[in-house]
Amino acid sequence: MRSPIRLLLGLVPLFLIAAGPHIDLPGSVESEPVQNAGPRVMTVYEWMAILRAPATPAGFQAPAGPRVGWPLQGVLTQPYGCTGFELERPAASCPSGFHTGIDIARPQGTPIRAAAAGFAYPFTDDQRYGNHVIIQQQGGLSTVYGHMIRFGVSWGQQVRAGDLIGWVGSTGNSTGPHLHFEVRYGGTPYDPMQYLDGSPADPYPLPEGWPGSPPDDGLGRR
Ligand SMILES: [Zn+2]
Repeated sequence: MRSPIRLLLGLVPLFLIAAGPHIDLPGSVESEPVQNAGPRVMTVYEWMAILRAPATPAGFQAPAGPRVGWPLQGVLTQPYGCTGFELERPAASCPSGFHTGIDIARPQGTPIRAAAAGFAYPFTDDQRYGNHVIIQQQGGLSTVYGHMIRFGVSWGQQVRAGDLIGWVGSTGNSTGPHLHFEVRYGGTPYDPMQYLDGSPADPYPLPEGWPGSPPDDGLGRR
């Protein structure tokens, strides 16, 4: 028996979606975005501490060759690393700002595809990443796709490499339509280019307790 309060809480994502501006997406007719589970609203970086990779089978070995594929083709407008771009968060070694991924410029509405197979989680973050999707792969790797205009996945949806997961936009802290793309290992960002180009060694053993699974969908449900 569900209480009225729980039912109301379950409807919150629908209200959030309904309250958003209606935007027509050119060139995005490939599939209808999944509406059965809304994005989770989180503060900046909150997800890094709580989101865990799906359980990795014992004896899992990363395959040889690139472990991540390009999520779309476009103009690389900003590389990973130190930047003078004022929008980026500063780090101790980069007082002018550290860019935790690569930026690929494409027109709004361009399809974004999963760079690797895994479980997809949509988030909203008005302060920085905007509408973004995190895909948790086996082996502790995850990929992040920022500034989407619209999601193409629901919470915990299983995706294959190349699946449509959303569309390019300029939501969050962004000056124009582009994809901000990150590759993380154990929750820490690394230069995506090395994962796109080849198969780098994992930088460290995964933290204690890793892998786990997302504690819930933001609404207290498993
Ligand atoms: Zn970026």
